[in-house]
Amino acid sequence: MVKFMLLTVKARLIVDAEQHDSLLRTMEKFNEACNFISDFAFSNRIFGKFHIQKHLYYEIREKFGLSAQMTVRAVGKVTESYKVDKKTLHAFEPHGAIVYDDRILSYKSADEISILTLEGRTNVGIRYGEYRKLELNRIKGQVDVIYKNGKFYLMIVIDLPEEELRFPDEALGVDFGIVNIATTSDGKIFSGKKCTETRLKYSKIKAKLQKVGTWDAKKHLKKISGRERRFKKDVNHCISKDIVQTAKDTNRSIALEDLSGIRERTTVRKAERESHEKWAFLELRTFVEYKAKLLGVLVQLVDPHYTSKQCSVCGYTSKNNRKTQSSFVCLSCGHTENADINAAKNIMFRAAINQPNALCLPI
Ligand SMILES: [Zn+2]
Repeated sequence: MVKFMLLTVKARLIVDAEQHDSLLRTMEKFNEACNFISDFAFSNRIFGKFHIQKHLYYEIREKFGLSAQMTVRAVGKVTESYKVDKKTLHAFEPHGAIVYDDRILSYKSADEISILTLEGRTNVGIRYGEYRKLELNRIKGQVDVIYKNGKFYLMIVIDLPEEELRFPDEALGVDFGIVNIATTSDGKIFSGKKCTETRLKYSKIKAKLQKVGTWDAKKHLKKISGRERRFKKDVNHCISKDIVQTAKDTNRSIALEDLSGIRERTTVRKAERESHEKWAFLELRTFVEYKAKLLGVLVQLVDPHYTSKQCSVCGYTSKNNRKTQSSFVCLSCGHTENADINAAKNIMFRAAINQPNALCLPI
């Protein structure tokens, strides 16, 4: 049986000024309608979709100029939110999401949609990041149209088939770090040099802009932050893709340190821990996990203690084994290796020992 995994893909809507205004007005009317429905539902204690529709359908259409299907969707949005909590009156932001289904939004091609506004249907271009070649038949039901920082986005839920999980005998150990973002037990190093350079470059620009403090500078700052975030995301996508593909091609699982271990590892000084977080470890980890799941590669979590201080050849553990950030020299057997590769090998061995108890499946 093929299992599927739901993923949300964000796509930007490419609109001209007229379409922008029209969509925004639609959004405002939609949410006004939601507030109207919410008031009715809460004060009358009527939370069922069909009951509300029976009472308000024509009134909503007339009052807010919504189409039949959009009225249904507005009622749906309100009843969904009351499913979670009926104790308080729910209010909806003027620019809250509009829920579109296939009767009011359709895909003309992978790059263009037809979307309903108060003025009728209009064709709008869409742009994706990672899922450029999105398969249209994988799109699941409703999509949310959201408005953020002056731009419209489509939140598309797609279901991707997962490959059957295999339980291999061997693991590919991966160590996450600062100088090296990721290092594998095969000895492959994903250097953080370029990333650190980029971060420094951006933080210099950001510091300057913060000093200036004008409206223009703030706007520029926002732009820079977005650019930096996208750069990090790209790096994380590349690294995770490489790691997962390597494990798949060589029929191995992926072994990672337990996350809490990474945070608490005593060798990581406070300042470094900060840059740890800056380097979006959670994101890299999430990417590794979901890509692994898609390709049927097992992810194992191992005990993170002393992975950087233990010798991967004889097992001798001492903090003196680690001469510098980059070099590991075992004081017992003399084994010498790049410190991150040594750590990745320890992670790999621990996964082999723990199997299959350390099984960790991403959600
Ligand atoms: Zn040794």
